[in-house]
Amino acid sequence: MSLEKPTKIWWNGRVTSWHEATVHVTAETAVRGVNAFEGVMAYKIEGHRKHAVIALDKHLERLSRSAELLHLPMPYSLEEIRRGVLDLVCAEPSDLDLYIRPTVYLESGAYTDDPSRMRMGAYITSYTRERAPQRSVRLVSTPWTRVDDPAFPAQAKSGAVYSAFRLARIAATKADGDEPLLLNARGTVAETAGSAVMAVFSDHVVSPPPSDGALESITRDVLTRLLEDEFGLKVVQRSLHVQELYEADEIFLCGTLDEVVKVASFDGVVPKRANGGLAHRLFARYRALCTALDPSSSPLQTCVAW
Ligand code: PMP
Repeated sequence: MSLEKPTKIWWNGRVTSWHEATVHVTAETAVRGVNAFEGVMAYKIEGHRKHAVIALDKHLERLSRSAELLHLPMPYSLEEIRRGVLDLVCAEPSDLDLYIRPTVYLESGAYTDDPSRMRMGAYITSYTRERAPQRSVRLVSTPWTRVDDPAFPAQAKSGAVYSAFRLARIAATKADGDEPLLLNARGTVAETAGSAVMAVFSDHVVSPPPSDGALESITRDVLTRLLEDEFGLKVVQRSLHVQELYEADEIFLCGTLDEVVKVASFDGVVPKRANGGLAHRLFARYRALCTALDPSSSPLQTCVAW
């Protein structure tokens, strides 16, 4: 993904230049990371001046839920933010896929939930992303656990949580891994620092439930439907023990940005099907849904022409 600065940003109700969209260093979002955000993919439709934004309404609903869990009033309606996402795609046409981040943030009003004493803002950024083949990662344990209830609402997708995930990512790199596995305080699997975990056992797939500290993954919902309806596999949400990962036929990760990522090894142990037979087929099917030319064949897509 290109971290190069885009020239445009949607900020507090309109598309403006990147340089204009600023907050003060004393803003709550800067000082304490008080914000809620989403990560949404928009795939370029081949041969057309169009992008398909994936599961946009589900992401906006989750944004609203994150804000509610953090006692943050939404500064704009979901319809206004939805419009902002589509306007931003049109404002800076690109031949590449886009990773779009709608964010609502607290500017002032630290320790209150009284909307009349809080100043909120919102922005949407968009980053281009080269379309790449399926990734394969070395998953590793780290000493860090998943920030979870009752310390912080696990279902709130907030910058503050990713400050904790950053440490797990650094620890994973030092342990010669690519991705940290995060357990919850009870010692069962929660998720990684940016994706849901799915483990394959002969005729079914297991993934930890939200009550185990896994963010309710929108991608996992889509994959669950594919696995059950097209691959004939049952998907079970239940607690997953670390030991089970050593015995799984296959492990894969999923998320908006990661799509479907194969796990090549977990703590150095190579799963029976490390080459990801199922993960590979599932990735191809998911990509096809996201990049479909005919939006009626893919209800996931909100098409935006530019
Ligand atoms: N867990 C975490 C911590 C994440 O950041 C993400 C990415 N949003 C996911 C899981 C996967 O969620 P989704 O499929 O909705 O992108």
